[in-house]
Order: sequence, then structure tokens, then C-alpha cells
Amino acid sequence: MSTFKDLGLKSEIINALTDLGYEKPTEIQEKAIPQVIVSTQDLKAFAQTGTGKTAAFSLPILEKIDVNNKQVQAIILSPTRELAIQIARNIEEFSKYMKGFSVAAVYGGADINQQIRKLNKGVQIVVGTPGRTVDLIKRKKLKLDNVQWLVLDEADEMLNMGFKDELDQVLEVTPKSKQTLLFSATFPREVDAIARNYMNNPMQIDAGKRNSGTDSVTHQYYVVTDRNRYPALKRIADINPDIYGIIFCRTRRETKEVADKLIEDGYSADALHGDLSQAQRDSVMQKFRKKNLQLLVATDVAARGLDVDNLTHVINYKLPDQIESYTHRSGRTGRANSTGISIAIVSPGERRKLSPIEKRIGKKFEQQQVPDGKDICKKQLFSLIDKVHDIKVNDAEIKDYLPSIFEKLEGLDRDELIKRFVSIEFNSFLSYYENSKDLNDISNTRRERDTRGKRRDDENMTRFFINIGRKDKLNPARLIGLINEQEIEKNIEIGQIEILDTFSFFELDKNFTQETISAFTNNDVSFEGRGVNVEVTDKKRAGSRGGRRRSSGGGKNHRKGGSGGGRRSERSFDRDRGNKDSGGFQKKFGRDRSSRGKRRSKD
Ligand code: AMP
Repeated sequence: MSTFKDLGLKSEIINALTDLGYEKPTEIQEKAIPQVIVSTQDLKAFAQTGTGKTAAFSLPILEKIDVNNKQVQAIILSPTRELAIQIARNIEEFSKYMKGFSVAAVYGGADINQQIRKLNKGVQIVVGTPGRTVDLIKRKKLKLDNVQWLVLDEADEMLNMGFKDELDQVLEVTPKSKQTLLFSATFPREVDAIARNYMNNPMQIDAGKRNSGTDSVTHQYYVVTDRNRYPALKRIADINPDIYGIIFCRTRRETKEVADKLIEDGYSADALHGDLSQAQRDSVMQKFRKKNLQLLVATDVAARGLDVDNLTHVINYKLPDQIESYTHRSGRTGRANSTGISIAIVSPGERRKLSPIEKRIGKKFEQQQVPDGKDICKKQLFSLIDKVHDIKVNDAEIKDYLPSIFEKLEGLDRDELIKRFVSIEFNSFLSYYENSKDLNDISNTRRERDTRGKRRDDENMTRFFINIGRKDKLNPARLIGLINEQEIEKNIEIGQIEILDTFSFFELDKNFTQETISAFTNNDVSFEGRGVNVEVTDKKRAGSRGGRRRSSGGGKNHRKGGSGGGRRSERSFDRDRGNKDSGGFQKKFGRDRSSRGKRRSKD
């Protein structure tokens, strides 16, 4: 195993890495850093998030960059604003002892003039999202004629998000002589095409198995009926008092619903989804990064680019349809030399979804039993005892109160005192889980009931065909925006979205089928200059990816016109308050003491 020094990095960089606590290079760093330092050959690297790839491409560039030249020498493209900010932040940390060096992050949704001012001061590395980068190039504020390195980070994500044209435009304005470094967790056809068309005889690096979950992640599953999914989630949180994780849901509505219930039940949780404004998203992410939140409930799209280390758990509240999404989700834990657990909560009917995932990740899911009340009480009790043991006592603050406290407790010996202190908490959670039922799904009758329930779930959605796709620069976020702009119904549930090259599909609450068709017809919707046509289509059949059969009840063709209107801001969530499943331990254990007396219903 080599050291950063062996890889050829200068002391200014090594000192910064030491400050960050990086002791030894990760596999991808060991392979990429010396290669980029000694050679100008293009590089194509398979790398998951969390493997240390940011340092793998940034450090050799920093090693070779000319700090006396204030022109942009490296451009790094990343799929999301959060990731761009994170990469720039990492580069600032790595370069803190390099005098004269400067990096700028450019991304949409923020003041462009401020970014232009920063560029005007002279920066050697720019980290940007594709859209904003192209915008700045067009305004002639970002000049890439002197670029020696172009990094495409998470190239597969960038293409998934519909940035193909932007990538092409950036690639075209950079000098032929540059070195291109392409990092991707997967290599679908589109990424290969980029590599073929824009890279010159690239050297290939493979750090870790392709498309696989990292070795540091354990995959577990729990089988419960749909009805018990949320109570099981709470028990999983309760049996892990120090949990710090992301709970993935499939729809925005489900995300809001789960987060709302968790908050109501006293857990330290919040939601991250596409309905939030950028400022709201930033605030939630900031709280989560600082560990002021233990549980983040998120959709796949919203969690993209969220870079947080040391997550103990990733929980698939519902499994995603695409296996790729599962690997992305689980890759958020077990990052950079730490371990993590990826949990799937599945109904009996969903169990079959596990084996294709197992094949892809090359690992087996371990079945776990939803813990019973007794296990949870024991775990929580000992967690409390550990806290008592480790708590730092603030002598100065409490010393004035001690004499009267001692006086009040006079006559109680040590054992009695311990029992009483512990009982303050223990009685309360004992009574919460008293007679709690087994949530594990074991019986066939339950299984049948659940499968039917699941079918009913699907039946609640109508699948629509829309005549625009990736070629029209459509991506899931833009499609959601387009649906929102039609103001079909407040809080309408959006289900699965499937973006294909020239057309796409989406699901909406079936109660608003006619309203959806009417809204798209009456609003004269157009997208990137094309008249938009929305029709009802058949339910997706397993394995029928891309196949399209419209049902006879479709809508009319649409006329052209401006779509107008911005994305709707935060919508209120209309929860079924009569059906809440309140109560939980997290509240009792130090997070929100105000709730102590609150009545809890059993899970
Ligand atoms: P990345 O894959 O670049 O997003 O890195 C994931 C996390 O691992 C980041 O928080 C890095 O700070 C951290 N990291 C990267 N390289 C190392 C290393 N050699 N040793 C320890 N932590 C690292």
C-alpha cells in the first residue's frame, strides 16, 4: 500500500491531506493520481461515489497546475449544484497551502454576476454544472481555450439528467490537446459514446467492481405488509439510537408523508424533494450535513449530489424500479473506509425484486427480523446508560444546585438512585412497546392480502404518454416542473417517470386523469419549441421498457403555445391526520423533551 508521497504529490498538498485526516490513498486514488501526474493520456475510470474519486482527479491536477498563470486550466463538470459545490470545497481544502491558487464553482439557481466576478479575478480551476457552464461560455465570461484538463464527473448521471447537448458544447470549445478524465459509476451506451467520440485512446481504470455496491456495505431486508411498512421503519430507527441515514421513497408525496409522520412522532427527520425551493433544499441539506438531523427522507432525484459521509444507514422505504438507483442509493453509505448498512423494507410481493439486485451488486441480502418491543427497550436502555456514562458534566453550571439536590435525594442509596433515574425513561418506553405486535410478515394469509394491496396501489395511478423526450432536453426534474406548471391539482401524486429518447411516460393519480388531459390541452403547452401532446397509455408491463401501447381513451393532439409560469413553490401537505401512527423513542431520548407527556398510539 503506497502513501500520498509515493504517488508523487508535493508537500503542500500532503500537508493539507494530513490536516484532513487522509492517511492513505484509496484504490482509485492509488491508480489515478500517478497516472495523471506522469501522463497526458485520457483516462476513463469506473468509480462509485464515496470511493474518493474527487481527490483522485483533483490532486494530480493541483500537482501540475501553474499557480502563476491566472487562466482557467481545468474545467470539472458535475451533474448537480450540490456536487459542484462539494468538489470546489474539497479542492479548496486540498490547495490551502498553495499560494496563488484559486477555484470557482459555477451552477444554476444562484447569482450569475457574483460567479462572473469571481471568474474575472482569475481562477485556475472551474467546477460547474453543465447548464451554467454553457451559459457562461456563451456570455464569453468563461474562457476555456487554455484548458489542459477536462473532468467529467458522474458522466452517467449527467447524461441521465439530460445534459448531453451541454456536454457536447463544452467539449467542443476546449482545446484538442487537453487531457480528458471521465469518471462514471456505470458505462451505458451513451457514456461509451462520449468516450469514443471525445477521448483519445483513453486508459481505463477500474476501482472496485462495476455497478456493484462497495464491500463496506451490508445489505439487509425486512419483510412486512404494506400496512406495517411505516411502523417497521420506526422500529428500525428505534433499534439504532445513533442512526444517521437517508430514507429513500419513490414519490414526492410519499417522501413528504413519511417525513411528516416521523417529525410528528418525534424523530429528528426532514424531507428533501423536488417541491422544495433551492433555499429550502439547501437548508435541509445543511442541517443534515451538520448532523442536526438524523434522518433525511428523500427522493432519488433530490438526493443526487448530496455528499455526506459517515451515514450509518440507507433505508429503501420502497425499492426503486431501476437496479441502478439501488446501487446509487446504497453507495451513499460505506464511503471512504467506513462501513454502512443498506436496508430494504419489502412487502412479500416485492421480495422478488431483491434477486436481480443481488446479481448486480454481487452480494446477498441478509434477512432481518423487525425487532420486537423487548429488543428495542433493551437497546434503548443501554444506549441511555452509555450516554450517562459518557456525558461530560459541567461542574461550574450545576454546582449551585447540587446542595439542594443532595438534600432532596438524601436517604436514597446508590442502587436505588440509579434505578430511579433509569426508570424515568425506561418506564415510558416500556409502556410504549408493551404488548407490541410482531410486524414480520410470516403468514400466507397476510401475504395474499398484501399483494392485493400493492396491486391496488398501482391501480391508483394512470400512466400517460408525452411526446417529448431526452432529445428535447427533457429530464425528470423538468418533466415534474412541466406537470406542476399545469396546476392540475394541488398535491397531485406523481408516480414513476420514464424518459426515453423521443417520448416519455409518467404516472399521476388516476382521480385526475381527465383533468390532466384537459390541462395539457387547454394550456397549449410547448416545450423547447415543440407542441406537447399528452395521452393516456397502458400500464407498464414488466420488461416492456420503451414499448408503447396507447389505450383508446387518449387525449387529443395539442396545439402549440407557450408553457409560461414558473415551478410552483412549496405545497402544503394534506395528511390524513385521522390515521396517524404517533409515538416514537427518538423524541424521548434527548431530542425533543417538550413532547414528553404526549399520548402515543401503538405501532
Ligand atoms: P468522494 O468519493 O470523492 O466523494 O469521497 C468520499 C469521501 O471520502 C469524502 O468525504 C472524502 O473527504 C473522503 N476521502 C477521500 N479520500 C480519502 C482518503 N484517502 N482517506 C480518507 N478519506 C478520504
